[in-house]
Amino acid sequence: MKIQIGHTLESSEIYGPGLRSVLWVQGCTLACKGCWNTQYWSSTGGITTSVDEIVEKWASTPELEGITLLGGEPLQQVGPVHALIRGARRMGLSVFLYTGYEPEELSTDMLDCFNMSDIVVTGRYVHELRNTNLRWRGSTNQIVHFPTPRYQALDIEEQHEVEVHLSSEGELSVYGYATDEFLTSIEVKS
Ligand code: SF4
Repeated sequence: MKIQIGHTLESSEIYGPGLRSVLWVQGCTLACKGCWNTQYWSSTGGITTSVDEIVEKWASTPELEGITLLGGEPLQQVGPVHALIRGARRMGLSVFLYTGYEPEELSTDMLDCFNMSDIVVTGRYVHELRNTNLRWRGSTNQIVHFPTPRYQALDIEEQHEVEVHLSSEGELSVYGYATDEFLTSIEVKS
C-alpha cells in the first residue's frame, strides 16, 4: 500500500510524549485561513512511498516511544493511515494523530483511526484563536483527546515548544511555533 508524504522527521520530542517519528501526510482540502503548512495542501505534492517501508524503518529504531501523524490532513488518506497506525500498534509504539476534522465529521474508517490512537488533536486551525503557548496545538478551539488509557494520566503542561535540527550538511530546520524574534536570533547565530 502506498501513501503520499510531504515530510518526515526521524525523531522529535515536541510532537507528543518521548522520542517520536513524525510524518507530515500530504494533501489537505480543509483550507484553514492562516494555515502554517500550505505546502502540504496539494494531494500530488511530496513523495509517494510504501507503508511497509515506513513501518520497517520504525522497527529498526528501538529508541522510539511512538509516532506522530500530521499534515496536511492524515485522514484524507485514511486507508494507508489506518495501516500505519496498525503497524505502529503492533510494535507497541504509541500513536499521536492530528486531524483538522471535528469528531462528528469523521467517517467510520476515520473514527477507527481516532479510536486506535493514544492521543488525537481535532479541529481546524482558527487564526483568530491562535495561541503559541499551547502544547501540541495552534489555536484554542483545538481539542486534545486520549482515546486509549496509555496517556490518560498525562498532565499536559501548556508551553511554547520549538525544536531546532541541524543536518550533517549544516542546514538548520525549525519545528513548532517559532516566533519571528526566535527565527531572527538563530539566523544571526548560524
Ligand atoms: S487542517 Fe491543518 S493542514 Fe489542513 S488547512 Fe487546516 S491547518 Fe492546514
